[in-house]
Amino acid sequence: MKDLACQQFQDTVAEFLIRHQSILDIISKSQESNARVNRAVVKAVTHCGCVKVRAEKSAIPPEATLADLKQLLDSHLDGELCPNCREIIESEMGKSIFYLTALCHSLGLSLADVLQREHEKVSTLRVFNFT
Ligand SMILES: [Zn+2]
Repeated sequence: MKDLACQQFQDTVAEFLIRHQSILDIISKSQESNARVNRAVVKAVTHCGCVKVRAEKSAIPPEATLADLKQLLDSHLDGELCPNCREIIESEMGKSIFYLTALCHSLGLSLADVLQREHEKVSTLRVFNFT
């Protein structure tokens, strides 16, 4: 997202922060929305079944390097989200981003700056970034 679009989104979020202006409301709603994203992913597995979780301990040879881990580890996810699950998860992610943006606004932070710094960090550290 370009800085301008990011700032426009933050400005729009700030305009809608009527009911949840309190930092306490924003923090609790942010946490709730994050949980709803995770719940939507779980429901895609357990209710819909369009994706499956196939997990087991990964066999990592002792001589493997950090760069090798990308090929040795996987998502433990099989399948592809159906359109309905995709829509639900995207909607929940949108709400989560809304409250993250609201938190930025309340603390006087710029979402664009946060994204830019994280992008620079990830780009610089690449495979060595274990946050
Ligand atoms: Zn589905």
